[in-house]
Amino acid sequence: MNPSEIARETLKRLALQRTPPTPDNYRTLYHEISGTTVTETFPEKSLKTLAAGLPRKTPEQTRFARQLDTAIGEKNWDSFKLTLSDLLNKVAAEPPNWSALIRELLVRLETRQAELTPARKREALDHVLASSAAPDLLHTRLQGLLKNWSQTAALENATGGDMPAGADNVAIHAVPPAPTSPQTDAKYASRADELAKGVTSELLDLLAQLLENSIGILLADNTELADEATRLITAARSTRGTEDVTPFIASMKRFSYRLHFVAEDQSEMKAALLHLLHLVIDNINELVLDDQYLQGQIAVVLDLVSQPLNLRRLDDVERRMKDVIFKQSALKKSLLDAKDQIKLMLATFVDRLADFSESTSEYHDKIERCADKISKVNDITDLSDVLDEVMRETRVIQLNAQRSRDELNQMRAKVSATELEVQRLQDELASASQMVRHDPLTGALNRKGMDDALETEVARARRHGSKLCMALLDIDNFKKLNDSLGHAAGDAALVHLAKVVQEVIRPEDTLARYGGEEFVVILPDTPLESAVTAMVRVQRELTRQFFLHNNDKVLITFSCGVAELAETEQGMAAIQRADGAMYLAKRAGKNRVLAA
Ligand code: GH3
Ligand code: MG
Ligand code: MG
Repeated sequence: MNPSEIARETLKRLALQRTPPTPDNYRTLYHEISGTTVTETFPEKSLKTLAAGLPRKTPEQTRFARQLDTAIGEKNWDSFKLTLSDLLNKVAAEPPNWSALIRELLVRLETRQAELTPARKREALDHVLASSAAPDLLHTRLQGLLKNWSQTAALENATGGDMPAGADNVAIHAVPPAPTSPQTDAKYASRADELAKGVTSELLDLLAQLLENSIGILLADNTELADEATRLITAARSTRGTEDVTPFIASMKRFSYRLHFVAEDQSEMKAALLHLLHLVIDNINELVLDDQYLQGQIAVVLDLVSQPLNLRRLDDVERRMKDVIFKQSALKKSLLDAKDQIKLMLATFVDRLADFSESTSEYHDKIERCADKISKVNDITDLSDVLDEVMRETRVIQLNAQRSRDELNQMRAKVSATELEVQRLQDELASASQMVRHDPLTGALNRKGMDDALETEVARARRHGSKLCMALLDIDNFKKLNDSLGHAAGDAALVHLAKVVQEVIRPEDTLARYGGEEFVVILPDTPLESAVTAMVRVQRELTRQFFLHNNDKVLITFSCGVAELAETEQGMAAIQRADGAMYLAKRAGKNRVLAA
């Protein structure tokens, strides 16, 4: 049999056995009929399920699981095997040497050190024991602790035991220095003075190093503060050896205060990034239909990480992705339904085909039997009976054929209609996030709508030489409202806020949903003071028109920044300034309007 005959036979048997015509069933039966062997395909789906179930609690586990993810994604058996054998090698690798570690711990615990009493050491040890559940982690941390103790001891030896504990390079179990014993004895006074100077110089050196090596990296995205750090490094080096460190300490304090915000932002940024990553990964499971979706999502993330990071951009991308995911899942359902329908039609088609060939072969049998009878007929009257039979059978088969042809035609029409529908949905999916201009929930403009309105208003303001203001408001503690009253109530609160804002602002002002719970109001022909007043009016109106949840009054407040478009400024730049002012309003205690 040639391949197309085998294929036909396969379809026929599938139909006869009433086996669903899935690719797998088809493949198995095809190979059965042709007598060939099934070549195994890469079991991507099963392996993905397996990988998704792996623990990812420690960095090591996450690294391993990620390597497997990559191997599975690339359908690469070799790297899959390599990853597994790597893991096994690691499991079989030298176990940590506990006895040596415990022996050293015992010795160190008892060693006398001026700055570290045995009680303090025990306290640090307790802390490490309590906070490190995994044996490997415990081993590493205990080693760190020992290293820390021995460094302190070395420093004490070097300075005759008078020096405070040195910089602790193992932050988890930092041991605060014990209060120095008051060395008021006159004969030690000058030596102590000298030592203090030495320590100050050394500390200044360490600070300069710290600023140079570590803080510099932390400030890669913040040129202003990075410049300040450079100034401080120079100041630290020039202060070395001089008496007066007060000015340096003052600048250092200011710097440390601002650095604190940067560190806070960075840790929030990390949390936001992780959250984003989870969203992407969660969504990957949903994206089995078409790889284009996946590529789109990954493109957003890639685009994001290729630019300097900031919290606002991350927020923005998260919201965009949420929108896209929502739209995709809604459209995907229709797409899946349509595909199911096509599958069903295909199954019916195969059934009909089988019925049809069955009835034609039955017809052939009957006609053959008639021919046989005809050849044996002696009497002309018998012949007419046989001819009657032939006519009857022929009519039956004609009707059958007609019916099948009609049905098949109908089905073909339906399949092409469904195909068109699938195409339409796919097109819609592709342009869904670009086409819409209005946010479906609140009816305010969405980001695209806002961009267009902004362009128009900025051009108009330039033409007329008039003032243009942008206000950016962000609902206060909205997450809390969502968490306590539910997401649906959160949605209703957004609708309420949008309604109140629309009522308060003038018809020529524009309200746009900037993202999740943030809105932008564009106020043409408005100087800064009036724009601030307008937003304060919105605030007041919200205390009059409460948001009602199950007949309970809920007060919605927001923090808002207002910026007036400067002469040569881009619209988005003004919004960003408004955003900065909004952040300040948050920091200052929320529920207020600040001018940028
Ligand atoms: P803050 O006022 O200090 O900014 O805190 P916040 O809780 O308002 O701001 P945060 O950014 O932490 O949380 C915003 C929340 O808004 C998180 C998100 O779940 C929720 N959110 C975003 N979009 C929607 C939406 O369309 N509907 C609902 N119900 N919630 C949304
Ligand atoms: Mg927000
Ligand atoms: Mg908020």
